Amino acid sequence: MKTFRKCNKCGAFLKKETSKSLRNEYPFVCPRCDENMFYIESIKVDRNKHRRGKK
Ligand SMILES: [Zn+2]
Repeated sequence: MKTFRKCNKCGAFLKKETSKSLRNEYPFVCPRCDENMFYIESIKVDRNKHRRGKK
């Protein structure tokens, strides 16, 4: 499942961890680094920023 959070190492979009045992501590996984991520390790992607072309 796609998320609106990015890896703070490589900038790839993170996926949601599907393993129940891992999900408690590491809710996200980076497909490029192949690593699980803490919530605080991920970067929030502001969806509004993409839309705001001009004032
Ligand atoms: Zn990564």
